[in-house]
Amino acid sequence: MSLAPNYTANRAWQEKSQQAARDRALAKPRQREKQLKPSSSLKRCATLSRRTKDRSKEERQYSKKRLVFLEKHPHCVRCWDQGRKCAATEVHHKAGREGVFLLIVALWLPTCRKCHVWITANGNAAIELGYSLSRHDRWRYLNPESEGE
Ligand SMILES: [Zn+2]
Repeated sequence: MSLAPNYTANRAWQEKSQQAARDRALAKPRQREKQLKPSSSLKRCATLSRRTKDRSKEERQYSKKRLVFLEKHPHCVRCWDQGRKCAATEVHHKAGREGVFLLIVALWLPTCRKCHVWITANGNAAIELGYSLSRHDRWRYLNPESEGE
């Protein structure tokens, strides 16, 4: 069994794929733009809209509103539920931050860092305890008239 021809072939293949990788790297930025335009998924839309002027305006509004909110609600809800008094430093969005949900104060919860991390990491338990809305409840919140869907 001779290794040489294989080695040469392998080497040629390696060089070829390295060239291809370089080509891909050069082509990447344009491909990315193309991919983003016709997107229909919610997540992509949120990512896209975050770059728009409207979204940055909303983000600025949010950073102001959240300070007022935390002044009015100084205690972490989850710690409070567990009998502890703990300063809230973060705002949890019961329905996430995507789209209109970012600024709906009724769906905000004051939390400490630790509880916010817990809520984010334990999605189902957080829904059961009322710290987060299920996908269905999120939809219902935006479409209150549609019953039984
Ligand atoms: Zn807490």
